[in-house]
Amino acid sequence: MTHLSFAQECCVLDQTPAAIRPAPALPVVRLSSGLHPLDLSAVTLHPDGALGAWQELNASETIPHCIAQLETSGVLDNFRRLLGESEAPHRGFVFADSDLYKVIEAVAWEIGRSGTSAHDAWLDEMIALIARVQDPSGYLHTWIQGVHPERKFTELHWTHELYVLGHWLQAGIALARTAGCTDLLDLALSFVDLVDRRFGPGQEDGIPGHPEIETALVELYRHTGEQRHLALAQHLVDQRGRDILPGGGFGSRYFQDHLPVREALDPLGHAVRQLYLNAGVTDLFLETGEEALGAVMREQWERVHTRKMYLSGAFGSRHRDESFGNDHELPSDRAYAETCATIADLHWTWRMMLAGDDPRHGDVIEREIHNALAASVDETGTCFFYSNPLQRRPDRFDEENAPAQRQEWYSCACCPPNIARTIAQLGAYVAAVREDEHGATLELLQHAAMSVRLPPEVGSGTLEVETTYPDSGTLHLSLSHLRAAPGARLGVRIPGWVRSGTVGTADGAERALSPAELTAQRLELALEEADGTTITVDMPPRWTLSHPRVDATRGCLALERGPLVHCLEQVDLPDGVEVDDLRVPIGADPAVREDGMLEVTLHHRSDDGELYRSRDGPATSPKENPTVTVTMTPFACWGHRGDGAMRIWLPRER
Ligand SMILES: [Zn+2]
Repeated sequence: MTHLSFAQECCVLDQTPAAIRPAPALPVVRLSSGLHPLDLSAVTLHPDGALGAWQELNASETIPHCIAQLETSGVLDNFRRLLGESEAPHRGFVFADSDLYKVIEAVAWEIGRSGTSAHDAWLDEMIALIARVQDPSGYLHTWIQGVHPERKFTELHWTHELYVLGHWLQAGIALARTAGCTDLLDLALSFVDLVDRRFGPGQEDGIPGHPEIETALVELYRHTGEQRHLALAQHLVDQRGRDILPGGGFGSRYFQDHLPVREALDPLGHAVRQLYLNAGVTDLFLETGEEALGAVMREQWERVHTRKMYLSGAFGSRHRDESFGNDHELPSDRAYAETCATIADLHWTWRMMLAGDDPRHGDVIEREIHNALAASVDETGTCFFYSNPLQRRPDRFDEENAPAQRQEWYSCACCPPNIARTIAQLGAYVAAVREDEHGATLELLQHAAMSVRLPPEVGSGTLEVETTYPDSGTLHLSLSHLRAAPGARLGVRIPGWVRSGTVGTADGAERALSPAELTAQRLELALEEADGTTITVDMPPRWTLSHPRVDATRGCLALERGPLVHCLEQVDLPDGVEVDDLRVPIGADPAVREDGMLEVTLHHRSDDGELYRSRDGPATSPKENPTVTVTMTPFACWGHRGDGAMRIWLPRER
């Protein structure tokens, strides 16, 4: 959760309760990137567009499914049993409470998006339940309270008390912003006060084993204006790398506690932990302008996205410890690639985009939304992947959290409600406003069918964007009731994969996108001239190579079109042809069929020779070398037609 108000007024309100000692003064600056989020209600994604349709599915299916699963999985009984209202034992992991908070957050953003009142009674029930279970001290953690009260605040590396509070805060802030209901946030604030008194600046040592609360506390600061909330976030970041957490069998890298944050240039350890931490650190940078934080985040962002990101926009190469691998260690079949890691990177990359201009930020967010995230949920909106490998071998068996098929829920259910809350606020990532010395510009950051109520900085009126993206690369722009501010501009992001395109104006004139625009990955128009403009980016299918150090995919090609990574599925192959026996011939020329699917002719080369053979021995020639014309499926849709082998990276013929 991020999209709101980092650029709110920077004054600090003096609302510090007497019980809380004054926080040390932190520098609070307004960064010069100039890019600011739009008002919460400014963007409406059209339901006939890909992203808007996903939001509709999220609202009608995913969110109700998640609400039902809170009952089925025992999350709500974990609360009720503490009131004597359930006989059930505690179920789920120590952080199961966070499932409830994430679903509440999803509902909150959905209220903001659609104005739904369908969940009002449920929300009232949940807030009342939370209030009744919360200890008078402010503390709430059903596993501690109900199973191991003696561990309260004694094992922060593992009990996730602060992680759970972070999600509680995010849900409370979302509900306050979208529904004007502060009840849930007020309850969380008393827990924050408790944590601040116990682990705040100058108090007992303590940091969370799983970052999350850091970004939530900065968002809380943006909401309350209370500097002590920012100071607590900074304190939790500053203490990392001081050997506070017992590494146990995992080691300090797993927890990102091996080095002070300002010295930790390498993304290491548990991928979701690292990426949530980075979102929080970047939040701190956005608020304080501390260059040491900005520098380390820029370096980490570079290393994550040039050495440790999968083509699908996924992260985490190892099942062991759900961790990042070494540089360029990116196995397709053994990818852990947890959905939450992509969501965490989306949060982080969005903040990096606000902190500074780099067109790759928009490219990464696009890659994540249209591939790793889209693949993590099925077309019913009710089945989910936790792990998102880029290859499924024909004999692969289910492994923990990496089943062959999407599942309705998981014993560790972090991912499904995380998807629900992310999709409900997708509109926050597609547009922003930039203010610089030249004036104000409305920036279209992602291509999507949408309506944008113009922010006051550029004027008033509504911008409509019509497109079937990512099926086509054409955007039609129209403006209604426009009153443009002097010098107001419209910026349109041009994705990094675009090599050519055109701009057509209302009077029928058309020109090619210029080399400068392609290099800058941005088209800029005077706002008044945008009405009636048609922008088309050409999106022929393209073959993609990986860096030669990526051993797992050396000698392979992947097929992409527009933002969509494609894959080959066994279900599309004729009898007797296996996915793993197909190779891309030199000059293979994929075509776009009338239905928009990609088709390509590959070589079929089965090989029943020895597993290992002499390099100098007789060549094992394939028995035959026929060609097979195959349909390639967007990775987002893989597995929709049943179980079977799949791969993104295809060996190329030499
Ligand atoms: Zn997850």
